[in-house]
Amino acid sequence: MPQRFDLVLRGGHVVDPANGTDGARDVGLRHGKIATVSERIDDEVTDDLIDVSGRIVMPGHIDTHAHLSGPFDQSGMRAYGHVMLAESGTTTALDLAGEPGALAEGMKRRGAGMNVATLLGLVPHTTIKEDDPSIGTMRDVVSDALLRGSIGVKLLGGYHPFTPESTAQVIAAANEQLAWVAFHVGTKDSGSDLNGLREVPEITGDGRLHVAHINSYCRGLVENNLAECDEAFEIIESKRSQFVTEAYLAQVNGTNGKCDEDGNLIYNVAQNCMRARGYPTTNAGMRQALLDGYGGALTERGGRIVIVTGEEAVRIWEEKSTDASLSFPVNPATSAFTLTTAKYDDGEFKIDAVSTDGGSLPRNVAIERTMALVKFGALSLSEAATKLAYTPSRMLGLLNKGHFSEGADGDVTVIDEQTGRAKMSLVNGEPIMINGRVVGSGGTWLVTAEGEKTAGSSGLPYEVMDLEQSKLYAGWR
Ligand SMILES: [Zn+2]
Repeated sequence: MPQRFDLVLRGGHVVDPANGTDGARDVGLRHGKIATVSERIDDEVTDDLIDVSGRIVMPGHIDTHAHLSGPFDQSGMRAYGHVMLAESGTTTALDLAGEPGALAEGMKRRGAGMNVATLLGLVPHTTIKEDDPSIGTMRDVVSDALLRGSIGVKLLGGYHPFTPESTAQVIAAANEQLAWVAFHVGTKDSGSDLNGLREVPEITGDGRLHVAHINSYCRGLVENNLAECDEAFEIIESKRSQFVTEAYLAQVNGTNGKCDEDGNLIYNVAQNCMRARGYPTTNAGMRQALLDGYGGALTERGGRIVIVTGEEAVRIWEEKSTDASLSFPVNPATSAFTLTTAKYDDGEFKIDAVSTDGGSLPRNVAIERTMALVKFGALSLSEAATKLAYTPSRMLGLLNKGHFSEGADGDVTVIDEQTGRAKMSLVNGEPIMINGRVVGSGGTWLVTAEGEKTAGSSGLPYEVMDLEQSKLYAGWR
């Protein structure tokens, strides 16, 4: 008897670098898994069929840097990120400074059917008791974070920097427990820029680290931005087997406009946004920058977060007593291009993945901008799939994702060849987005073995990750 399929994606341009596939194929799915990829599957052996001719069919985009919850997200705005990310074609996301309880709640309320893991954001006096946590404190914070369903922790050096010593303790405590640890660079000795990145090798020692959004340290604040890219590459290469990295392709960043009692911007990232265009790093400077339309404020419209500018932006920022999410176009396109396309001599990409740093931040352009690089001739289609799906799957140790081998998870992103935008995506063989409309809900919570109990009692479907399989911890023990 011929094998039967639940669904066949007919006639797309299938790109699966792990299996060397790059051409017209049919994809057969059964029980939520990839059952076969072949030249032609008979109509009679499938219960459902979708014609995807004229479309690119690749393993689902795995976003290694997104925002879907947060320890400082009182309004729950970040949960809107599920729909925003799924609309752009992402199927799996790592929530890079989250709060596991808030993530689970947000996924139930506004989930879009993606697979989602979260890292606990380390915010003094909110998620950790001390300003500069000791290794003893961090051991407890990490094990508690894992129990509560986070897969690790995120150091928010651009907002809540620790001393270099304390930062090193955080990394060591996470490494000991094989927990994920991501670092938005910057300590009390440096900042969220190339100087912050320069400290990272010494801070990491012989440990393992996810160095977040490399593009954020190549904005031309310390040196010329392309010289910064070159130095960033040298730094990453010096710890090539210890770091995993990503860069995003949006021009706009995300920051917070909070000012202290004296009217000075308190966060380094926001200060840098002002410096980049010669505005004072003060309340008055920020007001002018918003009025001039240089940056904008984030607000909810129709179930999505959008950026508004001018007087409306100032009003939102003031209503929140300056503690508002803002956005500035500070990422140079030349840095994005250089960081995304650079390879080592052995053919491996210097930066592992294309992320969004989006979700609830309206810049979920990883897929369409990567496809623009394909159109431009800077990446092949197979390289695009490598950066959007295959390498991210290895980064996270999600070995059943990122490829279309028989038995792999049925996570698929279907992209319009003309526009480069995702038209459909599937998770576990079920569509979660069709023609830009999200049809999925909830989601699968990705946790470590320590978080299984919490995930099990949440009522959400969950899967257990084994970070020992991740590129981050390859050869660690
Ligand atoms: Zn981020």
